[in-house]
Amino acid sequence: MMPEPTNKPTTSRATRTNKRNRKKAASSLRSLLLLLICVLVAGIAGWKIVTNFDLVPELSQPKVKVIALHPEVQSKMNTLIRQAKDRGIDVVITSDFRSSAEQDRLYRQGREDPGNIVTNARGGQSYHNYGLAIDFALLDKSGKIVWDMEQDLNDNGRSDWLEVVDLAKTLGFEWGGDWENFRDYPHFQMKFGYSLRQLQQGKAPEGSITEPLEP
Ligand SMILES: [Zn+2]
Repeated sequence: MMPEPTNKPTTSRATRTNKRNRKKAASSLRSLLLLLICVLVAGIAGWKIVTNFDLVPELSQPKVKVIALHPEVQSKMNTLIRQAKDRGIDVVITSDFRSSAEQDRLYRQGREDPGNIVTNARGGQSYHNYGLAIDFALLDKSGKIVWDMEQDLNDNGRSDWLEVVDLAKTLGFEWGGDWENFRDYPHFQMKFGYSLRQLQQGKAPEGSITEPLEP
């Protein structure tokens, strides 16, 4: 009588069970990995959304409307005028804070309205509208306003205009004459790290003179 291979079916069943367990383990490992990737992607996407829409500062900062020149810009402007005067250069400020309505009026000049085009910015698109920019010009010997960048009234062989620009930059101003697309030679501004989009959303640098923004 041939001995029955009693063990064989048992072994085979055990192997099947092992295989099933291994499959189960692999599948739960895959699920776990998938879950991890999902969490990672969602996290990155969420962070992108938050940073793109500046949701974090918006939640903590009430929306405001700026109504005057920023005090620090004002004080640096006064220093600039004084420092230029010490060098024999008479600086005049031709524009500082402009409301969005004033900016719109200025934008229409040379377009729908008579005159020369003086700006490419509509209301809300200029740092002037947030009290962070000033425009300057020089006075000639007769006290007349001039936009002559060659003028050298203190006779030191350097353009008075560019001397003022150097002083302003040292005080922390950004000069419109350095811009790539539209060079704005009489223009100085301080951003305090704020983009135009943030300012348009009703945010303002600390110290700004503001009133609450109507919804
Ligand atoms: Zn300007």
